[in-house]
Order: sequence, then C-alpha cells, then structure tokens
Amino acid sequence: MPTSHATRFAFALVSLAASSLACRTAKPQPPTDAEKPAAATNAVRLTPRPAPDVAPEPAPMPRPESVALAPLPADAVADDAIVVAGERFSIGTPVVLWSDPGGYDAYAPAPFFEGPARAGASQGLRYRPGRKRGDEDVPQPTRAEVAELVDQFVLHFDVCGVSRQCFKVLHDIRGLSVHFMLDIDGTIYQTLDLRDTAWHARQANARSVGIEIANIGAYPPGERSALDSWYVRDDEGWRIELPANLSDGGVRTVGFTGRPARPTRVEGPIQGQLLEQFDFTPQQYEALVKLTAALCKLLPKIEPDAPRDARGRVRTEVLDAADFEAFRGVLGHNHVTLEKNDPGPAMDWERLLEGVRALL
Ligand SMILES: [Zn+2]
Repeated sequence: MPTSHATRFAFALVSLAASSLACRTAKPQPPTDAEKPAAATNAVRLTPRPAPDVAPEPAPMPRPESVALAPLPADAVADDAIVVAGERFSIGTPVVLWSDPGGYDAYAPAPFFEGPARAGASQGLRYRPGRKRGDEDVPQPTRAEVAELVDQFVLHFDVCGVSRQCFKVLHDIRGLSVHFMLDIDGTIYQTLDLRDTAWHARQANARSVGIEIANIGAYPPGERSALDSWYVRDDEGWRIELPANLSDGGVRTVGFTGRPARPTRVEGPIQGQLLEQFDFTPQQYEALVKLTAALCKLLPKIEPDAPRDARGRVRTEVLDAADFEAFRGVLGHNHVTLEKNDPGPAMDWERLLEGVRALL
C-alpha cells in the first residue's frame, strides 16, 4: 500500500528533487512505434523474438523497442488492452478499464462505492492530471511524452487481499490512486491512463507507473498474522480463503480458487527485517509478466530489470537518493520508501524478469 503523504523524511525531499533532475537530463529516445509497420493486433501478443540464424558478431542487448506495439483502431473491441495517452494496446491478458462495466474509476472525484461516507474519507481528485518535466507541467502528454517522462514501474502488494477491497481503501478512504490493480485471478484493472500521475509511491509518482498486486502482505515469522486466516490447507495445499464479509471479493473469475505459486510461506529480509509471506498466484505472475513486457515496449526507458546489489541479487532495501535517481526499470515500493516492505519477500523477481525478457 502506498504510504501516507504525511510521512516526513528529508530523504524523500532529496529524492524528489533528484528524480526531477533525472527527467530533465534523460537522453532522448526514438519513438517506440516507429520500427515496424503495424502487424494487426497479434503484433502485440508478445511472442518471443525469433533467434537469428547466424550471429556473426556479438548481438547487442535486445532493446524493448525492437518489437513495437501498435495501437488498436478506435473501433476495435478488445478485453486485453491497456490505455496510454488515449490509445489502446492489446497485451494478451485480460484487462478491465476504468470505463468498462465492472471497472474501477480513479477519475471519480467522489467515493466510488455507495454507502454512507466513512470518517476520514477523502474528497476531490485522487491523482494529478498529466505528468511533469522537471518543474514544468505537461497537462496532457502524448504517448511519446509519456515515454520520455516515465522510466519506473513500481510494484506494491495491497494488504487488502483482493482488488475491489484495495480500491475501496485506496480511493475512497485514503484518497490515493494507482494505475493498475492485479487481482488474485490474474485480472488486471486499469484505473487511470498512464499519462496521468497516480499517487502511490511518493517521490516516484511523477516518473512511474504503479500497480497494486492483491496479496494480504508480509509479516514477522512466528507471529500470529493475517496469513493464518487468509490461507487454509486442503488436499492440494494452501489456498486463499476470503473472509465472509468480503463475499466473493469481487473476483471476476467465478468460483476462482487462488493458490500461492510456491507451496509454503516464503521468508526473506526486507529493509533488514525478516518477513514471511505467501507467494502471489501463478495467474498473477502470468499477467504481470505480460503487462510488464508491454510497458517496457511502450515506455522503453523502463528497463526489464530491478535494482541489484554488487553480486547481482535483487536488492531488498531502500535505494539511496543517487541510486533512486539513476534507476530505470522495475522496482518495489520498498526500494522507494524506507518504511515500506512491499511487494515483499515472496515476489519472485527472477521469475518475473526472465518472463518479461523472453517477451521482448
Ligand atoms: Zn506500496
């Protein structure tokens, strides 16, 4: 979950200034869609790049823009498209847009769910229209401008367990936003166009796209926690059991049974603290791989890698201001903000990133 905007750390202010600088000094990139002619909608099915028959010289690192995604025609019907600067792109996995039936609309200035207003419920906009280039507002950026200004994809877990509940807490109560939510059945919900700035990760907001992945979170091992009630064991192993008050949780796949991708709780340190967590579902990994690969193609400053230490392992601690400024790619909320531990020790970064690279 995003942190409170009230949190005050000098580090954040330094990083905010630093991230603005990064946007100003970024090298220009070629347009992402200029390399190949549009090859119908299955151009975006993210098939692996064919290997060359011969490689007389060492091949350069494949660049995400090497396989362009073509926008869908305005009248095309698609249930797998994300929206960037008003254009839709098929990503090969189900996406429900904010404008679709059953979607979640982060543009709504009032609480989205009906019912009496809750104490502390937020009013007004939950996002900032447009992006920023340094201190300059870019109120309605084109796709090329979004690609110029966005270079990070921030992963969160939602500690709500399912996306409907996440939107209720994030939008209605906390007055925050995130571009995507990924439910336990692999359904992606897009709540805002990527040209608009979501409020999800403080100093990363201006330069990032964010996603809240449905998962009840990470906790110190050996302590009673939500893990004890959210997961039950049956003949096939652990499965997610939603609390009765959430009913079906709004999960789009009727009768869906969610199981963690790995059979036991995953332990690991985040910010130096040992935590345990059940893994995300295989359906979530599959969808996240496709979405991340699509983002790397459409916004090619987002590189298909995470922050790594000197030994090449994905880092588990917050980045300092200089590393944060310099980093372009996929990162966790914990890399952005010291007090955050999401997406947690169960995030299988190598599974995700290898999957993404195979699609580029
Ligand atoms: Zn978060």
